[in-house]
Amino acid sequence: MHLSDILRAPKAVLHDHLDGGLRPGTIIELARDCGYQGLPTEDPAALAVWFRDAADSGSLERYLETFAHTCAVMQTREALERVAAECAEDLAADGVVYAEVRYAPEQHQERGLGLDEVVDAVNAGLREGERRSGGRITVRALLTGMRHTERSLEIAELTVAHRDRGVAGFDIAGGEVGNPPARHLAAFQHLRRHNCHFTIHAGEAVGAESIHEAVQVCGAERIGHGVRITDDIQVHDDGTATLGRLASYVRDNRIALEVCPTSNLQTGAAKSYDTHPVDLLRRLGFRVTLNTDNRLVSGTTMSEEFRHMVDAFGYGPAVFQEFTVAAVESAFLPLPERQRLIDEVIRPGYAALRARSGQ
Ligand SMILES: [Zn+2]
Repeated sequence: MHLSDILRAPKAVLHDHLDGGLRPGTIIELARDCGYQGLPTEDPAALAVWFRDAADSGSLERYLETFAHTCAVMQTREALERVAAECAEDLAADGVVYAEVRYAPEQHQERGLGLDEVVDAVNAGLREGERRSGGRITVRALLTGMRHTERSLEIAELTVAHRDRGVAGFDIAGGEVGNPPARHLAAFQHLRRHNCHFTIHAGEAVGAESIHEAVQVCGAERIGHGVRITDDIQVHDDGTATLGRLASYVRDNRIALEVCPTSNLQTGAAKSYDTHPVDLLRRLGFRVTLNTDNRLVSGTTMSEEFRHMVDAFGYGPAVFQEFTVAAVESAFLPLPERQRLIDEVIRPGYAALRARSGQ
């Protein structure tokens, strides 16, 4: 597949962190505006490289440190609106037609914003970005609770309160080691009582037991990353595989895995694109979606993730349509909206692409 076709292909992203995807130039301008002195450089190109190098260290904890800088400049209504609008614009320019963008409201209160003000500012920015993109993209927010803090129930309540106003669901993120998802059971129970969607980061730094807890104890509808589900899959020499009960459950119940290949390489959850389990999981029938995780910090875009998959596995439009439809089918949107995106945007987009490329 040519680069121009990859860019043109309709894409959907379910796992993209708002604070991991800022434009380098915006970080520098916002830092000046708010007097933040902590940036390692004021040159946008050098700053982009710095973020990527810091994230390439192979440790999830070190990777998460880079967010101190981005969050430091996202502490006012204006800054949040700008970052959110640019996020929607950048995704749309990359051919993304549906995005769920997540962030932790509690990390944007250093200068006195209330939780509702944070959510309202991000929503206003996302609507502005959709508008500037001429309606080519639909964006919803997911509110993230942090694993290491005690505010997940409060954030779950915030999610329920804002769910008909641009917020589609909830997530738990942060360092996985030593912070099992069941610590936040009260939050998940609140969401379930209110019929509210949620996903959980699991199976990235910790193995299958973390996915088991997220799905069976907490009730996650999707899994952020989830690549360590391979711990429960035995691959034989002849290429066939035997699934354990957890892996079967996840596959058979169509629980989407929000797979982020480049991010996995950076945090050490996978060794290379060629050996990334995304292809094995797809072939075994898991509902696999492709995602960016953190566009700035991982130096990636959806098109870049597609390109890596073309290089590693030779995927063409048919497989990318499969990933994109899978993502929209697992989106936290009402069914008619999902169907409309699939029937009116994604399928026609890929049909045009196949007609052009003769594939
Ligand atoms: Zn993530």
